[in-house]
Amino acid sequence: MKAVVTGGAGFIGSHLCDHLVARGHRVTVLDDLSTGSAANLSRVEGSPGFRFVRGDVLDRELVDALVAEADTVFHLAAAVGVYNIVDNPLRSLRINLHGTENVVEAAVAHRVPYMIASTSEVYGKNDADGLKEGDDRIYGSATRSRWSYAAAKGLDELIAYVHGTESGVPCVIARFFNVVGPRQTGRYGMVVPRFVDQAMAGEPITVYGTGTQRRCFGSVFDVVPGLLRLMETPEAYNQAVNLGGHEEISIKGLADRVVELTGSASPITYIDYEEAYGEGYEDMQRRYPDTSLAGRLVGYRPERDLNDIIRSIVEHRSTAPPVPAPA
Ligand code: UDP
Repeated sequence: MKAVVTGGAGFIGSHLCDHLVARGHRVTVLDDLSTGSAANLSRVEGSPGFRFVRGDVLDRELVDALVAEADTVFHLAAAVGVYNIVDNPLRSLRINLHGTENVVEAAVAHRVPYMIASTSEVYGKNDADGLKEGDDRIYGSATRSRWSYAAAKGLDELIAYVHGTESGVPCVIARFFNVVGPRQTGRYGMVVPRFVDQAMAGEPITVYGTGTQRRCFGSVFDVVPGLLRLMETPEAYNQAVNLGGHEEISIKGLADRVVELTGSASPITYIDYEEAYGEGYEDMQRRYPDTSLAGRLVGYRPERDLNDIIRSIVEHRSTAPPVPAPA
């Protein structure tokens, strides 16, 4: 099988490439290296049929040419990370909206099955106990740029879904809930690699807000195999499916856990949201997934707990060379 992975040099995309190459697939990565890194592909670089194309998902012709020769497309290219979204609202919106439109339109035109990466952010401020795929979306005002990510990804789901329904081309919409693991950078906001880096450097751990907000972190080593199984399962086509972990923790609890597991002497400091993200930021107080749909469809059961996840990141930080800052 020939697969195109947009955003393949990013965190989740590069783990997906590892799995695809290990299964003997021929993989083409399309990535502009804006937040991803070539180092993330060191395991697959040089494998038979592997190709890296540096380019932009906004380049319609390029996207179309790559998709035309593929048997399946995984669309993970996106502007991600709260700092990135808040600092570059227009570019983020364009990439997350038109980039997805380009990929989906090319996939449908060439009748190539496609998967798009969505996010728990689409639920917005809905903090229900165990968010289910059909639950409502609650977004804040458009003047608060942090909502552009949720709004764009919500529309991406519609683009993927409507095209999939009208064309009959298989489509999977994967909703990732705070997926973490080795290769994820904290540079654009993601809390677990940030805390691990701070702890390992002996710097203060920066808890934003009161630290009582809760998250449920999912391991990339659970999520990526689940994603691949969804693509092979016709019952999963044309619907959104939650993928994530099961262990919920407050951000203060996460800071304590990271300090404990790294043996760090770092103190914990509290920073106002405004200072961290700028004026008008709204945080989600809770976000916990119901993954029973993925369980029924493909037997998805997350196996790695938070300690496993933190340890895997610490180990990676200790062995991998530091990733250079993007140009
Ligand atoms: N967070 C934090 N310190 C940091 C980075 C993030 O306390 O240095 C908080 C952030 O405000 C949020 C949680 O950690 O409440 C998760 O943030 P992340 O950006 O990883 O994911 P998301 O907000 O999308 O769930």
